[in-house]
Amino acid sequence: MIPAAFDYVAPATVDEALTLLSQGGDDAKIIAGGQSLLPVLKLRLAAPELLIDLAKIDSLRGVRDDGDAIVIGAMTPHFEVVADPLVREHASLLAECVATVADPQVRHRGTLGGACAHADPASDIPAPVLALDAVLTLAGPGGRRTVAAADFFTDIFTTALGEDEILTDIRVPKHTGWGSAYEKFVRVSQQWAIVGVAATVRTDGDSIAEARIALTNMGSTPIRARAAEQALAGVRADADSVAAALTGVAEGTAPPTDLNGDPEYRRQLAAVLARRAVLSAAGR
Ligand code: FAD
Repeated sequence: MIPAAFDYVAPATVDEALTLLSQGGDDAKIIAGGQSLLPVLKLRLAAPELLIDLAKIDSLRGVRDDGDAIVIGAMTPHFEVVADPLVREHASLLAECVATVADPQVRHRGTLGGACAHADPASDIPAPVLALDAVLTLAGPGGRRTVAAADFFTDIFTTALGEDEILTDIRVPKHTGWGSAYEKFVRVSQQWAIVGVAATVRTDGDSIAEARIALTNMGSTPIRARAAEQALAGVRADADSVAAALTGVAEGTAPPTDLNGDPEYRRQLAAVLARRAVLSAAGR
């Protein structure tokens, strides 16, 4: 389990990193926390000749207030996302979800941007990013562009990021007046999600006015359950009414089969977890 030899650079700016990336072409790879990339290298599933470490680029780390949104640097490690007061106040769904990722060791090294760029279908983090309607900023040789989360996760381990681009930040609209919850089903604590559901809900009296739901590990990308979101609008926020509105939450998904379960089992789990997440969110 030793990676193939590679060169290593740690530039101090995004521009420097972009130059190195375009010079390196197919032989260069970005490394953030290394929590997903290093196992890939050790298994020799990839053998880049150059690793470009973003760890010394201060501008990529931290959370800032930007009016109607918070902006989280791509290199912000998971433990900082969980603890950050701005995230906890304006995007608590993200803090709650990231707190369920692995163990403290992984949360101290792994980064929000790395998890989004890696786009593992079983990763917990893309679902809240999608449910919160976040927008991701990508820097490339031609400048910066923004991509909505709904367009960013395109396939299994595949995103809208070009080979010569770097994810610089994730902009999350403030969800003032919304409650939220992340429900994750695992057999053993600190494991990857067998299924996860991120929900954010705005109530009006006893009823649900609006809901956003995104599913983890129910297909090759995180999936917005838009039909279920529409079915919840105007529904009383009680267990029976919410369960009835969520019967179709797994429609259009393509869950995997593995040692943890088959698609039917996962669809059933998604319905149960979605009910729990929506009811928790409505009560917060
Ligand atoms: P890296 O491993 O450094 O990079 C991953 C990929 O993204 C690479 O291809 C890299 O080139 C690319 N990349 C990274 N940053 C950028 C960027 N800014 N721009 C462009 N490309 C970039 N995750 C969960 O969600 N839930 C879990 O329960 C969970 N359990 C885990 C358990 C273990 C034991 C481990 C080791 C990991 C686990 N993870 C889990 C994954 C963890 O969240 C990783 O930190 C994350 O997936 C990758 O983040 P990273 O910063 O380590 O990225």
